[in-house]
Amino acid sequence: MKNELNFLHVVRLTLILFFFIPLIMHHFFSSSKINSKLKNNKTKQITKEIISPDRIKVYNVKNDTIFEINFEDYIIGVLSGEMPASYELEALKAQAVAIRSYVLDKIINFNKQNYLCKHNGAHICTDPGHCEAYLSQEDANNKWGKDWTKKYFDKIMQAVLETKSEYMICEGEVVKAFFFALSGGGTEFASDIWGGKNYPYLKPVQSKFDKNSPNFLSEKKLSVNDFKKKLKLLRPEIKELCDSKISLNNIKKTTYGSVREITFNNENFKGEEIRNTFNLRSTNFEITINDDCITFLVKGHGHGVGMSQYGANYLAKNGKNYKEILRYYYNGISFSHLN
Ligand SMILES: [Zn+2]
Repeated sequence: MKNELNFLHVVRLTLILFFFIPLIMHHFFSSSKINSKLKNNKTKQITKEIISPDRIKVYNVKNDTIFEINFEDYIIGVLSGEMPASYELEALKAQAVAIRSYVLDKIINFNKQNYLCKHNGAHICTDPGHCEAYLSQEDANNKWGKDWTKKYFDKIMQAVLETKSEYMICEGEVVKAFFFALSGGGTEFASDIWGGKNYPYLKPVQSKFDKNSPNFLSEKKLSVNDFKKKLKLLRPEIKELCDSKISLNNIKKTTYGSVREITFNNENFKGEEIRNTFNLRSTNFEITINDDCITFLVKGHGHGVGMSQYGANYLAKNGKNYKEILRYYYNGISFSHLN
């Protein structure tokens, strides 16, 4: 009996050594090969797309359709929609390179970030809150009249043509070139505004010349009741927040004054939440609470991350070229061209 058991044990060991282990090893290495093959294919696809995105698919949110367009023509449409065409040529050129970089990054990442769903399968959409505003020449004619086209369209085309195929890279990756209208005195870390990851090229820089803009300050007043109603929509689960007198417990700000976090009646809110809820121009605000009225005094316009468009125009007026402007707002970047 003991001999039989020993014999069975030897058979089991032999099977494990000569059959199962090689089978498992084969499976493991084949999977690695397949994964590596898939990874290489994906890299090739991305490289191919970045080398030649000659046509891209754009989801038009206004009429729920997708149109295909030549990549550089798309940049012309976005530049028309995103920056005042009256701005200096070098500011428009800086903006064109920023848009191209932003769009390329979206093309590279659109599968990863579930953009396919949000865009019905297109690379990018025309919603400025999600991707980029886009204005065709016809849209521009309808919006501003044919005189605008006569006066400015050539200038926009020139800005795109003179920077044709140029984009920004940093540490081997295409730059997520965020931009906005007007800072509150300086730009911000992405994490201070949206939370999450920081990028080495998106660091706070002073942009004090933005204070020269006639639109630098804006004010928003609302009754305490309206204020409470809107806060209640933001935090429906918290009753006591709106049943008592509103008091400001704490406010955390960035170097340049944007509100990272604010606490009313012991409840924390992100600055961006307050901005969106009360439709403020930026998160760079002071708040005054009186018995019957709440007043926001807001500096700048936009999220504050990346390039200030007003600042770019100021620098252009003062003799800086588009590369100097971009290097000023995006830390440690370099330039590259699509083939
Ligand atoms: Zn989008």
